[in-house]
Amino acid sequence: ADCIELRRLHRYFGKTHAVHDISFSVRRGHVFGYIGPNGAGKTTSMRILATLDLPSFGDAFVDGFSVVNDPELVRSRLGFMPDSFGTYRDVNCEEYLDFFARAYGLTGRDRTRRLREVLEFTGTVGMKDKPIRGLSKGMKQRLCLGRALVHDPAVLILDEPAAGLDPRARIQLRQMIRQLANRGKTVLISSHILTELAEMCDSVGIIEQGQLLATGSVEDIQRQR
Ligand code: ADP
Ligand code: ADP
Repeated sequence: ADCIELRRLHRYFGKTHAVHDISFSVRRGHVFGYIGPNGAGKTTSMRILATLDLPSFGDAFVDGFSVVNDPELVRSRLGFMPDSFGTYRDVNCEEYLDFFARAYGLTGRDRTRRLREVLEFTGTVGMKDKPIRGLSKGMKQRLCLGRALVHDPAVLILDEPAAGLDPRARIQLRQMIRQLANRGKTVLISSHILTELAEMCDSVGIIEQGQLLATGSVEDIQRQR
């Protein structure tokens, strides 16, 4: 079954055709790498999937639900990791995750248990009392992934999560993403570097100037280029 689907998606900003007739789908438990240079339209299409923006034409589906017609159901099934961290500087890591857990309606023991699971999975247990403002880039990324996971969504949309990470943190990120896919999560992950994602993706799509130029396995794409 397809867990993520873009169907003839378009988004204009004035005259800029940021997303130009993009269609692709990602099967349950697969990791799809969304590769393209800055300005290609990756963030715009991911924000539409995360219901933070709307298509000009076309539609996108998460777990079969339309971002246009059923945004609430899409949100309940999707975790989004934006490309910048936001502004929660004066809280500690656990408080940060707790904020999102509450926002998703988790209460009581469920919330406590889920926070512990997320801290453990992302390797941030030792950081839970530390303020976000002092964290390294790698730790911030882990926390941000934790936030996207807090309501145990079926689908993850990760906008350039490896950007700015050192090689060790990248390997750890890759391991976390593969583990999530092995547990049945469907992942859309973007980068401007194909090789950065090669080892973790089941398939990739190349986007440039709003258009999807090719999709296939990493080997298919490398052969074509
Ligand atoms: P990427 O994530 O691949 O770097 P984006 O989706 O951020 O690309 O941007 C695609 C194009 O849309 C760019 O030309 C960008 O300048 C433009 N764009 C994105 N968001 C807006 C906006 N809110 N208003 C106007 N133009 C935008
Ligand atoms: P800011 O702090 O600048 O508002 P954030 O990155 O915290 O930026 O949030 C950007 C948007 O992402 C918000 O509108 C929020 O509702 C949305 N959002 C946050 N977490 C999730 C999530 N797990 N799934 C989908 N959307 C989310």
